Amino acid sequence: MRLCNFVNGQWSKPLHGQYRNIVNPATGEALWDVPQSSREDLNLAVAAAKSSFSSWRLVPAPKRGEMLFRVGQMLLERKAELAAMMTQEMGKVLLEAEGDVQEGIDMAFYMAGEGRRSFGQTTPSELPNKFSMTIRDPIGVAGIITPWNFPMAIPTWKIFPAIVMGNTVVFKPASETPRLAYELVKILEEAGVPGGVVNLVFGSGSEIGEALIRHPDVALISFTGSNETGRHVAKVTGGELKRTSLELGGKNAIIVMDDADLDLAIDGIIWSAFGTTGQRCTACSRLIVQEGIYDTLRERLKERMEKLTLGSGLDKRTDVGPLINKQAVEKVKKYIKIGTDEGARLEMGGTVPQDPALAAGNFFLPTLFTDVSMEMRIAQEEIFGPVLSMIKVKSLQEAIEANNRVTYGLSSSLFTRNVNQAFEAIRDLATGLIYINAGTTGAEIHLPFGGTRGTGNGHRESGTAALDFFSEWKAIYVDYSGRLQRAQIDD
Ligand code: NAD
Repeated sequence: MRLCNFVNGQWSKPLHGQYRNIVNPATGEALWDVPQSSREDLNLAVAAAKSSFSSWRLVPAPKRGEMLFRVGQMLLERKAELAAMMTQEMGKVLLEAEGDVQEGIDMAFYMAGEGRRSFGQTTPSELPNKFSMTIRDPIGVAGIITPWNFPMAIPTWKIFPAIVMGNTVVFKPASETPRLAYELVKILEEAGVPGGVVNLVFGSGSEIGEALIRHPDVALISFTGSNETGRHVAKVTGGELKRTSLELGGKNAIIVMDDADLDLAIDGIIWSAFGTTGQRCTACSRLIVQEGIYDTLRERLKERMEKLTLGSGLDKRTDVGPLINKQAVEKVKKYIKIGTDEGARLEMGGTVPQDPALAAGNFFLPTLFTDVSMEMRIAQEEIFGPVLSMIKVKSLQEAIEANNRVTYGLSSSLFTRNVNQAFEAIRDLATGLIYINAGTTGAEIHLPFGGTRGTGNGHRESGTAALDFFSEWKAIYVDYSGRLQRAQIDD
């Protein structure tokens, strides 16, 4: 099967006719071919989005929202089928793939409702016979650039608020996961979103992504991906004063205090560290443990890790699927060497599995390092694989300091039964997401999502925060006094 671009309402082949093959990371099996588009394809998509903007911005927002209700309904009907495609394409286990699609469904229904809300403010004027209010205005063409690890959820976090606010879209999905992007745009088309409003161009980051961020007719860029690419995007768009939202990496920690419910903490750690094979931006890669419970937790965690089953995510028995590709396996191997060289103790894993049944896939054993200190690179840098580093601390204050002493600030979690400690941590943990007695993952779509420091540039996705990125505030004053009234000057 060959996927197509979607430009100006037409499913079209790339102008230069080039494709590349997508491979199942669990089996090495060839799946489908994806266009390797050129700048010319991208330029056509931007031109379509630009010309559609003038009519789309005038479609009443409730009507735009109704289209998203239909999108949500279709996603719901096709949830199982879409989840299976996702597992084939990027490896996460079926249950998690269903969760990924569900996030898109939730976002569709939530943003559909924004078509009838999008509240502004009415507020008194300081002058008599004068009325003041604010409304949201769409901005123009939104360039949407997404990673491969949430192939349905992340595009919906961006495209749905963008279009309900009246913007038009050029969408460049991750090179590794084109299929879900293709299915999502087909659903948008079937739900009645007019041609030209959402355009889809497949291709590499260096060719299509780069052309998109540099295009003068693209008014805003919403990017999710690695810190390195994000910094590059910021440099390019910053020079043009282009509105840019960056959602980047994480080095998230779970803190376990001596008084924690250990069974619950271990469930949270396993789910957060090894779910999606550690390839979530919110994955837990640091385990900060109070000294009284450290040895017990380490031993009990190892027992649970022993029981994790590796395999294809389509197999119901599988707990941990493959990494996305061979480069990811090499990157994880590199960090195993770095950690060992730095003096951390490799307690478990640290290698690819020896099982011949897994040889064709990009598998890596769930890995635990202990005796890790905060300065080590494995405690500072995003590995994006099933590698967990255990750090021992004496007190909550020391744990919070360790949590905050990394360049990322996405998610953190604390297991304790002490409500005072919990609220102290909520006050002092410097991350965009905080979980008490739950792991580092599990955001809900109606709350703001994003991180501090190196995780981004201060914007938030999800909830009403997303509307702030995809719209411009307009302040309006209506003077019905019939005379010139000067604010700050006339009494
Ligand atoms: P990546 O940075 O390699 O790629 C992300 C996207 O950027 C892809 O679509 C890619 O093609 C594109 N791209 C690459 N070069 C580009 C360029 N020069 N100009 C424009 N676009 C370009 O990231 P990835 O490997 O796909 O994703 C994994 C990363 O994403 C991890 O660091 C993870 O933590 C992060 N992530 C963050 C969040 C969040 O919300 N904070 C969510 C998921 C993933």
